[in-house]
Amino acid sequence: MVNGLFQCATAKLPITLMDDPVKLKQELDRTRMELGILYEISNAMRTTLKLDEILYIILTGVTAHIGLGFNRAVLFLVNEKDGLIEGKMGIGPESGEEANRIWNQIELEKKTMEDLISVYKFSNQALEGGFNRQVRNLKFPLREQDGGLLSLGVLDGMPLHLTQETMENYLSDPVIQLLKSRELVVAPLKSKEKVNGLILADNFVTHKPITKDDIRMLMMLANQAGLAIENSQLYEKTALRAHSDYLTELWNHGYFQSILQSELEKSKAAKNPLTLMMLDIDDFKVYNDTLGHQAGDSILRQLAALLKNQSRKMDYVCRYGGEEFTVILPNADKKEAYLIAERLRQDIEKQGFIHEEILPQKKLTVSIGLASFPENGGIPSELIAASDKALYQAKNKGKNNTYY
Ligand code: GH3
Ligand code: MG
Ligand code: MG
Repeated sequence: MVNGLFQCATAKLPITLMDDPVKLKQELDRTRMELGILYEISNAMRTTLKLDEILYIILTGVTAHIGLGFNRAVLFLVNEKDGLIEGKMGIGPESGEEANRIWNQIELEKKTMEDLISVYKFSNQALEGGFNRQVRNLKFPLREQDGGLLSLGVLDGMPLHLTQETMENYLSDPVIQLLKSRELVVAPLKSKEKVNGLILADNFVTHKPITKDDIRMLMMLANQAGLAIENSQLYEKTALRAHSDYLTELWNHGYFQSILQSELEKSKAAKNPLTLMMLDIDDFKVYNDTLGHQAGDSILRQLAALLKNQSRKMDYVCRYGGEEFTVILPNADKKEAYLIAERLRQDIEKQGFIHEEILPQKKLTVSIGLASFPENGGIPSELIAASDKALYQAKNKGKNNTYY
């Protein structure tokens, strides 16, 4: 890859430079610097497979003074499934004053590219501003006929340089309306076979003209970035599949154990409560024995969907095994978790399930056991044992209820 970059950077030295040693040296120095920058950014991209981290490294590379030095950069990714192009991350100041403050600080602290990139692991300060938030809300249809700037960038697959003159044609484009750029480059991100996104970069604060060299560097970076993004997306897809239960699409048992461990650690560090909910279908054997396992499986799917829809966004709904489910409720003490569990239990009782009249109670119901950090324990096995015990009590006391 380094060879590839080197060839790109040096292949087109004009012959006349050979006759002018001073110019030749300047040109070589510049090439060496560019190569160093690209080398550093692509090395950083190889250190992680997390998509958010990769996007941050790319945009830091595009905007850092010691990188490509653009004032602002925005990254869009193609969402093929929904036919959209979506804003994923934007780095840049919202005003000239903010720009000066940040840039002076970086200059003062003599930050290296590595320093700038490693900031992401500790805090996402650069992403907390309004600019990134605005970018993340952007979604545009990807259509050949729509003539929008982003569709054009993706479908054309070539870099677009909008100069002050050509910008006139795009003033009504929603992206330009938001960015208010006077001059802009749109660089396609390419995976092995297709365009998987775009980087937009401009000099919104300094109005420094964008040169051919700037665009060449941006394209070299974008080529590396497109591949790094594709790898990361493949990795995330595979990880998601490995963590999901095939029948219900909930988190599987292995992943449940690992989330419970990490959520407990977070709760301890932040001194927050956490509750584990264990849930088991009542008399499910009767259902299976009467109607067969396929009918039972479709009940499991229907119940899983209900649990997922009715729980809080921050909760983890898992299939513990067979017809037992767990829900990890971060930040919920027993009192709050009890209300959530009872609401779930009643929702299930009210929901109609096919042929539930064959069950002893004439309807499909569940029993629930709860255990909370800190009062029932501080490690996964303690919470699992305590919630199991509570569930056993719920069953013993007649089923279709919640115990803790
Ligand atoms: P209880 O009210 O005490 O929970 O009674 P139960 O009949 O539900 O008993 P138990 O919880 O031990 O449930 C085990 C039954 O659940 C055995 C089997 O028929 C059914 N079951 C377990 N896993 C699956 C599965 O993956 N698919 C189907 N269709 N049925 C399952
Ligand atoms: Mg069971
Ligand atoms: Mg059961």
